[in-house]
Amino acid sequence: MSSETPQSAIKSTVSPPEQSNESAIETARQQLEQAAAHIDLNQGIAERLKHPRHVHRVSLPLERDNGELEVLTGYRVQHDSVRGPYKGGLRYHPEVSEAECTGLAMWMTWKTAVMDLPFGGAKGGVVVNPKSLSEGEKERLTRRLAQELRESIGPLQDIPAPDMGTDAQTMGWLMDAYSMQQGETSPGVVTGKPPVIGGSYGREEAPGRSVAIITREVCDYYNHPLEGATVAVQGFGSVGANAARLLDSWGATVIAVSDVNGVAYDGDGIDVQRIPSHDEEPESVTKYANEVLSAAKLFEIDVDVLIPAAVGNVITQDNADTLQADIIVEGANGPTTSIGDEILRERNIPVIPDILANAGGVTVSYFEWLQDINRRPWSLEEVNNELEKEMLTAWNEVRTEVEKRNVSWRDAAYIVALSRLAEAHEARGLWP
Ligand code: GLU
Repeated sequence: MSSETPQSAIKSTVSPPEQSNESAIETARQQLEQAAAHIDLNQGIAERLKHPRHVHRVSLPLERDNGELEVLTGYRVQHDSVRGPYKGGLRYHPEVSEAECTGLAMWMTWKTAVMDLPFGGAKGGVVVNPKSLSEGEKERLTRRLAQELRESIGPLQDIPAPDMGTDAQTMGWLMDAYSMQQGETSPGVVTGKPPVIGGSYGREEAPGRSVAIITREVCDYYNHPLEGATVAVQGFGSVGANAARLLDSWGATVIAVSDVNGVAYDGDGIDVQRIPSHDEEPESVTKYANEVLSAAKLFEIDVDVLIPAAVGNVITQDNADTLQADIIVEGANGPTTSIGDEILRERNIPVIPDILANAGGVTVSYFEWLQDINRRPWSLEEVNNELEKEMLTAWNEVRTEVEKRNVSWRDAAYIVALSRLAEAHEARGLWP
């Protein structure tokens, strides 16, 4: 394999995805190819990055509270570790699949690289509806998962974190099960755990905080002063609610927030500090609204900034044409399909990609890991100051690529990430 081979000489092995059911792995591979075409990415490295290094699939026998036994399926996909231990969330969701975990693991590799964190990328999950589990069932499932993955995770190997359907308590059980089996207290095996056992202050709020910081910067860049800018947020979970509340406190006017039941709308601004987040009172934003719109209407609202902060594949060929926002900041992982992205690019609507915008989560995970290694907690102020610095550094690096190469924000973020990954792969080489 020659390090001279430019990406343009590589024959694509990835066909364009079907729009209707585009999987995360298809989106991630499309995005990789699209960005790689802008830089002389070594062919062998590009090929390696299209495939995960390990895929762990485990069967998880679970005794339900009624005594019945059910066998669930779990995955942990470890994509790339050239820059450091695998890192990424663990989700409990009925749509978890190997393909989804692989795409999400790839995004984690780009996310840690764009933030220049010494980590690789991984993702895992269990195919289950977390709402169908009692606390006890969730705990038994999590401890069993820790046992099944014990050989593959660890503070220097692979470090899970919360994601959809999991939280600080889930990470606490995982850390406990792992530590008990190892015979040593091992806080660094997971991040996003409660501060009392080595979690970091500010970790839970961090993805939403980074979305807010990036929204502030992008508004400034496009001359939409945050003071008075209008914002619509899809999803009022941890990411959406924290981003909305911070933006509101920094002077933006949040005019719409949504959950599965619909959109809470007020053209004069809604009181997002008062509306409960999904964690505070699940799926109830519409209960607190003066005006309720159907969920799909969110994309038709004329706003300065739209923040999709719920699930993947929500901006598609069906709504990208008619969407009314001036700027999109991706709070969720993978909210825009490849075709949706292409349409927005043609319409000159900037899309700030997930791997930059919501990277505050994994960045504070890194701070947590450092605190665990040093056995020394940081104050909330220290965490937020460091996060602000890391986000601004990454923002400026991505912005520089946008200006230098006249590419989209997503391509620019990929260029920053892929250049770091390629350099690391070159430096380490292929062995054995
Ligand atoms: N699940 C989060 C993400 O998608 C955080 C991952 C982490 O902290 O490792 O970025």
